[in-house]
Amino acid sequence: MIVEGSVLVVNAGSSSLKYQVLDPVTEEVIADGLVERIGEPMSSVKHWYRGHDVRREVALPDHEAAIALVLDLFKADGVDIADSGLSAVGHRVVHGGRSFFAPTLITDEVRSEIERISPLAPLHNPANLTGINAVSALLPDVPAVAVFDTAFFSDLPDEAATYALDAEVAREYAVRRYGFHGTSHEYVSRCAADFLGRDVADINQIVLHLGNGASASAVRGGAPIDTTMGMTPLEGLVMGTRTGDIDAGIVFQLSRVAGMSIEDIDTLFNKKSGLKGLCGDNDFRSILERVAEGDDAAERAYRVYLHRLRRYIGAYMIELGKVDAIVFTAGVGENAAPVRADSLAGLENYGIRIDADRNAVRSPDPRLISTDDSAVAVLVVPTNEELAIARAAVGVVSA
Ligand code: AMP
Repeated sequence: MIVEGSVLVVNAGSSSLKYQVLDPVTEEVIADGLVERIGEPMSSVKHWYRGHDVRREVALPDHEAAIALVLDLFKADGVDIADSGLSAVGHRVVHGGRSFFAPTLITDEVRSEIERISPLAPLHNPANLTGINAVSALLPDVPAVAVFDTAFFSDLPDEAATYALDAEVAREYAVRRYGFHGTSHEYVSRCAADFLGRDVADINQIVLHLGNGASASAVRGGAPIDTTMGMTPLEGLVMGTRTGDIDAGIVFQLSRVAGMSIEDIDTLFNKKSGLKGLCGDNDFRSILERVAEGDDAAERAYRVYLHRLRRYIGAYMIELGKVDAIVFTAGVGENAAPVRADSLAGLENYGIRIDADRNAVRSPDPRLISTDDSAVAVLVVPTNEELAIARAAVGVVSA
């Protein structure tokens, strides 16, 4: 049975569909799944419902076929999703541009606007829209809400959001810092405040979302004042396969000297760079193992990764003036104790002291890893974007 009031959360990529059904009140995950290689000769489906696992290899020509199969898998377990009392579908939408600053009920106008701003995120928004259309074709009676990755950052101070580019060109092409991973930064910064028993409005935090994609934000009183990702999710920290910050002159150089096309450079910067480009690996577990074995390329990748991370931690300490908490989240932030220790090493003079034993604890729960006498609380807070999207969707439909 699906609990009345549950939310279907959908994250549609260009050839993939991730979904969860969860109860936003108890946080119980009722179903969870991933369809990959949609549109290819053979798609793969992983579906989990209340402890029951299903795996399928089947041809799914498009997202609607994928959703139809998922609904059939629910039916095989005796659940008619269309008639199960879902309160909403929450769709992750990557780019809200200057149009969407909050979770938004999806109407025809909203769809058109998401489409209109698609050039800002050509790989993501069209895929998100495909997911929205496919789900609403099959679940027309369930209200659908778009939750934007950029929304949390939509009020960034002008000086943080503005690139020093010809102002006319920037205006014409909507070039500015938008920031991404906002759902995670907002969720984690609120959880961190709750954990500390403080009102989020009263504290300043540095949030480090370190996953395969990675971003940092400086959050003052619950509102971000800066973030590392920019007009696209390419900027900022060293990531699994993305360069993060890079001299834009390198684009001209690679074009002129290496004869690379814009598409080649796009692929190089987004898919073949970062940790993978530096050492051939973007799984942090194996990078840490290789570092321990004395592998030079992995050790260099690790140093470059940490150097960038520490640079932003320092910058955000200055921007915030006073920092109450530094919060680690996402795959690397939640699990890689050496990254947490090394990124904050030697900062005792700034009131930052990690407790080695606390840092070594593995747990799915929010936890403190700084010493009791550390002026800055250092926390690990697992992110949960699905739960945040589900809650946001319910917030919109019950408003
Ligand atoms: P995400 O994008 O949040 O799913 O994070 C993916 C990243 O987290 C990958 O680089 C993983 O290698 C890394 N990761 C996951 N588990 C661990 C772990 N136990 N130790 C180190 N890194 C991990």
